[in-house]
Amino acid sequence: MNPRRLAILKEMGLAPVWRLRQRVEIVEEKDSDWTRLEREVPACTACALHKTRSRTVIGVGDRNDDWLLVGEAPGAEEDRLGQPLVGQAGRLLDNMLAAIGLARGENVYIANVLKCRPPGNRNPEPEEVARCTPFLERQIALIQPRIIVAMGRFAAQTLLGSDATIASLRGRVHRYAGVPLVVTYHPAYLLRNLPDKAKAWSDLLFARRTLNA
Ligand code: URA
Repeated sequence: MNPRRLAILKEMGLAPVWRLRQRVEIVEEKDSDWTRLEREVPACTACALHKTRSRTVIGVGDRNDDWLLVGEAPGAEEDRLGQPLVGQAGRLLDNMLAAIGLARGENVYIANVLKCRPPGNRNPEPEEVARCTPFLERQIALIQPRIIVAMGRFAAQTLLGSDATIASLRGRVHRYAGVPLVVTYHPAYLLRNLPDKAKAWSDLLFARRTLNA
């Protein structure tokens, strides 16, 4: 704040009250932005996926978490339950998180690039990604994570605006809007490629070191 304005507010005995009010207003504004997002996502008809979804999947977790994990899109189970990564891949992810003392909903927020299930679990189309990404961008701006882990090609390429492979993006700290971002394999891929689990494990440790650096 401009020092003259601060001096006047202090003189009037209002400065700390004003600051407190400013903090309260920021929290209230964030809450109402979340409320708006939670209203807009289920009502979204921006792409054809709204015609085949059972429900939208916004994300799960504490909205002030340090960790944000981003996956691809809801599958059948997620479409049914409205939560990201609740199937077999999600259980693998939960176990990996538990091994470093993290748990979904406690210190990790999980979201996807797409909020609706692509039929038959096909890959997201570029048009669907383009239409849906603004929701993810808004989530990231509201959560203000300290570390983002992009799981799989779609999350990494979308957040980094790149078409590079996972293999070439791993092992480095990237940035998304100034937030450190680490790339790893998608847990569904790990279920099919068990030897790469060790690499994903080392990516998680790398993310933790980056957060604590
Ligand atoms: N794969 C994802 O990326 N997200 C889900 O929610 C389910 C499967």
